[in-house]
Amino acid sequence: MPDDYLVPMSSPDLSPAEREAVLGVLGTPSLSIGPKVQAFEQIVAERVGVRHAVAVNSGTAGLHVCVRALGIEDGDRVITTPFSFVASANVLLYERAVPVFIDVDPDTGNIDSDLVAEAAEDLMKGGHAAHRWLPRRGVPDSGPLKALLPVDVFGQPADFDALNRTAQLHGLSVLEDSCEALGAEYKELPAGRLGDAGVFGFYPNKQITTGEGGLIVTDDQQVADMARALRNQGRAPGDTWLDHTYLGYNYRMDEMSAALGLAQMQRFEELLAKRESVAAWYAEGLAALPQVELLPLASTTTRVSWFVYIIRLAPGVDRTEIIRALDRKGIPARPYFSPIHLQKFFVDRFGYQLGDFPVTEDLGRRSLALPFSSIMKRDQVELVCERLGAVLAG
Ligand SMILES: *Cc1c(COP(=O)(O)O)cnc(C)c1O
Repeated sequence: MPDDYLVPMSSPDLSPAEREAVLGVLGTPSLSIGPKVQAFEQIVAERVGVRHAVAVNSGTAGLHVCVRALGIEDGDRVITTPFSFVASANVLLYERAVPVFIDVDPDTGNIDSDLVAEAAEDLMKGGHAAHRWLPRRGVPDSGPLKALLPVDVFGQPADFDALNRTAQLHGLSVLEDSCEALGAEYKELPAGRLGDAGVFGFYPNKQITTGEGGLIVTDDQQVADMARALRNQGRAPGDTWLDHTYLGYNYRMDEMSAALGLAQMQRFEELLAKRESVAAWYAEGLAALPQVELLPLASTTTRVSWFVYIIRLAPGVDRTEIIRALDRKGIPARPYFSPIHLQKFFVDRFGYQLGDFPVTEDLGRRSLALPFSSIMKRDQVELVCERLGAVLAG
């Protein structure tokens, strides 16, 4: 009953500029494959500081295209995280690649880069050494380790210096799922350009929205060319409308979405700054609650791009009961994330069990997303904090 809530769980931040931009497209004959997609790609490429940007119609589509463009195939192994939105692992399954889950850092929730280094070494050796990192069943006995797929969780970049070192040592590609982190910085470098290719997502709860949408960024010309071909039914440069060099998809972003994204990018600093204010109000309002732990920030995170506002409840607090009680007081709250390895089809296929990734499971059990958006006002944040305080006090 979202209509009954006093504060929405999330909300896009749209000004008259966005409305005009979308309506403007409707007055032209180009509703797809037009100038707005190019302009949107260019503004994001400039902001992130990359050579190429390729817009697509979802973050998931962007990740899928990158998996193909990086040459990840049937039976290839890819190290990734179970503490993420399910799409980051699904895109590997689309290509029959094997996701090798590695547990996460208990502070940031980002993939544990020391464990990644250890796992990569063992997986390169193969055989017995490799086995302890693989799922119980459902994977071929052997297969090359091809890539790392880290996720910038909750708008905080993963530990890319260490991850890139591991990748270089073993000749792996690095695909950065930056769908939650447009605008974030790692040691002052923009998220999205920290690996070989990065992907942003623009679903309505993200830092900027296009309705549905996503975008690939890379400095690699070949990856960019392949991404452009695959999003457009496999048409290579020089192909006509009815030539299809590759098995492709229709993953194109339309012009209305791109116009919306462009208008949002023109307000990007304002949007990020507003999200930062809301996060700061929360930190202040929650400071006095002993059962609430705020998201720890890594020293390498020189800018967080606040995506959701996640708190961790002290061990022993009944999260389900807290969510129910908040709901009765008109405040929505959600568990976030639900570990990927415990999703039904991952359990069925790979035989994962409770206990396989204890840090992920612990964070999954204790994390709570509170209402968050750039249009939230200070009194709304205070209301959420006050009601949460009351509920926790029992
Ligand atoms: C939002 C998100 C995506 C992409 O989601 P889409 O709905 O396909 O745009 C991918 N990975 C993560 C971690 C996300 O949060």
